[in-house]
Amino acid sequence: MSSSYKGGCDHVHVSANAEPIDNHVCHCNVCKGVTGQQTTHVAFFNYGDLSVDHPEKMNRQPFNKDNPDGPLELCTCAECGAALMLDDKQKRIRVAVPNVMGYNDSSFPEATYHAFYDGSKDYAKPSDGRPVYEGLRPEFVWPEPA
Ligand SMILES: [Zn+2]
Ligand SMILES: [Zn+2]
Repeated sequence: MSSSYKGGCDHVHVSANAEPIDNHVCHCNVCKGVTGQQTTHVAFFNYGDLSVDHPEKMNRQPFNKDNPDGPLELCTCAECGAALMLDDKQKRIRVAVPNVMGYNDSSFPEATYHAFYDGSKDYAKPSDGRPVYEGLRPEFVWPEPA
């Protein structure tokens, strides 16, 4: 069986056999801090659709260091430090950031909208025709915990 999406590093492999439930261009400061990119293509998967072969080799840290009790954890490889995925302590979603987590970004569906855009930022509002929201798209529904 082949996975639709494969990411990770030489030590820990992350794969998904289902399509993401949300694809967006994230403008939030946390992504910016983690990736060093002004915007980040982020794909959400249902929790059960993204799997890891060696979870015991992952270090976990709060995704948002300013909100250490938040639900999302950044998982990194204990051997090489590569970013692998975001895991949801509430088991609703798992998150891939294709171009920093070892995936072929071009194999992913294109992001459908801009998320967490903040008008006070010192760069222009995106004008590529995709909707721009200050959060996730309003119709996004968090899956039930797995
Ligand atoms: Zn973000
Ligand atoms: Zn590694």
